[in-house]
Amino acid sequence: MRNGLRVFDAHIHLGEAAHSGRKQTPGMMLEQMDRHGVDRALAIPFPMVPSYREAHNLIGEAVRSHPSRFVGAACLSPFLPQAEYRDEVRRCAEEFGFRALKFQPQFQPLDPSSSRAEFMFEIALEHRLAVVCHTGSGVPYALPSLLMVPARKYPNLKIIVAHCGGGGMLLPEAIVAALFCPNIFLELSTLMPNHVHQVLAQVPAARLMAGSDLPENIDVEMGKIVNLDIPEVDRQEILWGTACRVFGDAG
Ligand SMILES: [Zn+2]
Repeated sequence: MRNGLRVFDAHIHLGEAAHSGRKQTPGMMLEQMDRHGVDRALAIPFPMVPSYREAHNLIGEAVRSHPSRFVGAACLSPFLPQAEYRDEVRRCAEEFGFRALKFQPQFQPLDPSSSRAEFMFEIALEHRLAVVCHTGSGVPYALPSLLMVPARKYPNLKIIVAHCGGGGMLLPEAIVAALFCPNIFLELSTLMPNHVHQVLAQVPAARLMAGSDLPENIDVEMGKIVNLDIPEVDRQEILWGTACRVFGDAG
């Protein structure tokens, strides 16, 4: 709880990052969450990992040990053989109860609007997983507008635009994508408070969620929503309600 509000951080990473050397254990993360009043978080592997299986096992164990604190997400390269990709996503959904699949075009250069990417969205749909898509760095495949294609093709799939386009230049694209596709949700990490006002002027809070990405951002990212001059109902939706509905309320 933060200022008496329940908080769901819709974007954190657990495990080992091969690209940065960063290591984040569930225990370290829980300490940060407790310090900053985060009740629950969507735990995602880092985009580049020594072993996606180990990353999923770590997150699966964290979800098992702390079912009210962590919701699990899978992340693996879409360039793996499709049977391998499919088996691992099934394992994450069936063995660990993961609720999301992450697509990271910055490190997985695949156009999400292309037919080559359809299998990812279809596997997610099959296991009732939401798809979290990184946007911003990694353009052109990280353009928010490209997500309108799978969102239209799979109206029952929930797609989360992580980082909401990554700020200024792509923010209007993220807003337009959400306006045209009711199954697109916006995760607000990296935006400035004025950008959040800009989003809220057009997209209802029931489609918005807060995220931090990295532990050193939690205080600022959650604080910016807590302190924003917006209606309380909107604040509750952004901090808790939307993510609970999209990723399933673990109780
Ligand atoms: Zn991230």
